[in-house]
Amino acid sequence: MKKIKAILALSFMALVLVSCNKEEETVQSNDSSLKVTPEVLNKLRSLSLNTSDVQVIKNTKADGTIEDAFLVEGCIAITEDQLNKMDLHGGITTEQYRTTNLVSAPKTIRVVGLSGTGTTALTTNMRAGLQAAINRYNNLGLSINFTLTFSSSTSGANIVVRRQTGSAGGVAGFPSGGNPYNSVTLYSGLESYSTGVNAHVAAHEIGHCIGLRHTDWFSRQSCGQNSNEGTAGVGAILIPGTPSGYDATSYMRACFGSSETGAFNANDITALNYLY
Ligand SMILES: [Zn+2]
Repeated sequence: MKKIKAILALSFMALVLVSCNKEEETVQSNDSSLKVTPEVLNKLRSLSLNTSDVQVIKNTKADGTIEDAFLVEGCIAITEDQLNKMDLHGGITTEQYRTTNLVSAPKTIRVVGLSGTGTTALTTNMRAGLQAAINRYNNLGLSINFTLTFSSSTSGANIVVRRQTGSAGGVAGFPSGGNPYNSVTLYSGLESYSTGVNAHVAAHEIGHCIGLRHTDWFSRQSCGQNSNEGTAGVGAILIPGTPSGYDATSYMRACFGSSETGAFNANDITALNYLY
């Protein structure tokens, strides 16, 4: 992340800012039972996940409790249990590459944005962004749709969206058992960005929750990186009509710019319609 910032400062490309890459504000786990072992890296790699910067973090679950998890590709949380259950031939779903790890459709996904006065309550800007993101998904007429309520109670929620102190970006995870990943964290640094950026990040994290990978997982080009790990050749099927290479305007790029509107591009819509 520091490298990215340095590159940006030098190149005057002030528009490209760190999105999901939350190394600085994720709480490092000192007493964790989880370790990033060669076996863990091999499993992640075999799932076509980028293994260049895997960390162990304290991840906040939907009910507010904390669990140890691996942080992969900057903003994807995977618990050891989830990792063990992922089938090499049917594990992760990506935007360009799908396998079988999707949300079972049709389904109405109940999203709760935390409200109230606590530190986990979403700001007005975050709430507006989240609402715009939900509206955009629902406007596509997919086989999954979303309801959104703002509440201090997480009762009945399929996905809880909460704020946490940190620089701009968010963290989410992948579906399991036909259900979306149940927790999205938005970092407080988003407050200095537009509602469009907030909508973009909210849509992006929900995209992970329903099974989308970073469209530039193979390179993290949007972050100014070049860390192609290769696909490892398992379980990745190209979604017809979407690019296999870099898509400069996809909302599932690993990093975002300050001028994001939160809109889906044509390829994003193709992928969402194909999957759902
Ligand atoms: Zn992401």
